[in-house]
Amino acid sequence: MVSYSMKPHLLVPVLVILISAYVGVLGFQRNNLIKENGVLNTGLAVTKEELASTTERLNAEIASLQNERFNLRLELDAQTNRVGALSDQVGSITGAVNTLTKLSLTDRELLKKYSKIYFLNENYFPKKLLFIDQKYTFDPKKDEQILDGVLPYLEQLLNDAVSAGIEIRISSSYRSFETQIDLKSAYKVTYGSGANVFSSDQGYSEHQLGTTVDFTNLKAGSVFSDSAFAKSPAFQWLKDNAYKYGFELSYPANNSYYIYEPWHWRFVGRTLAKKLYDENKNFYDLDQREIDQYLVSFFD
Ligand SMILES: [Zn+2]
Repeated sequence: MVSYSMKPHLLVPVLVILISAYVGVLGFQRNNLIKENGVLNTGLAVTKEELASTTERLNAEIASLQNERFNLRLELDAQTNRVGALSDQVGSITGAVNTLTKLSLTDRELLKKYSKIYFLNENYFPKKLLFIDQKYTFDPKKDEQILDGVLPYLEQLLNDAVSAGIEIRISSSYRSFETQIDLKSAYKVTYGSGANVFSSDQGYSEHQLGTTVDFTNLKAGSVFSDSAFAKSPAFQWLKDNAYKYGFELSYPANNSYYIYEPWHWRFVGRTLAKKLYDENKNFYDLDQREIDQYLVSFFD
């Protein structure tokens, strides 16, 4: 309510003026807002454009980095494979060198077959011989020797035989080229011309290697015959067990290359002896090239 003292006829023009002023202010504000909106819209458009271009650039960079990562992964895999292959190669070379070292230290004669075309000469001597404890020998007055690397296997065999209740002795082991000549002469005196097949010619004897022993027992004694020792429990035990210690029967019954010698056992290494046992084969029936493959495991 207008309570102050304005003249009624002035009220309308004043109101008109006030409303006009107000409308003018509103119009001004509107124009300002339109202008500002225009500026903001332009700014927004620019920002949107910048954002789009930045997104595009970042996407391109991400794609390029992913591509680079993929290529690096490929390269890494390739390098890893190369390192692996190289490592395998080094491993196999090391293995080959170890095998060669082992072979170079192992006397090739130790696994040779002796025949009319291959024999040991008078200058052949085992590298190192050791004495066999007299508790194992048949004649305590006679020294018996064997190759150093074979002694532990022979002792184990003899100890295990004793544990199994088997009475077994060594009647002969290492024999030199000279001893073999003397032995043959002695057999000629005792047995006459039959000595040619009874005791092998010098150079053909496995005893010269230092890896071969003749077993006996108190009953069979030192005079060899195929009946006495072949019928003993000792011989049966040897047939069943000697391979575990690396020994084989060189001249079995009915072989085609030498007389039957049930007492005569040669060390050929446990791997080869087991193969002969498992396959029921004789050492002299194998091919020399096949036998030579076992040289590397001779003392294993
Ligand atoms: Zn013999």
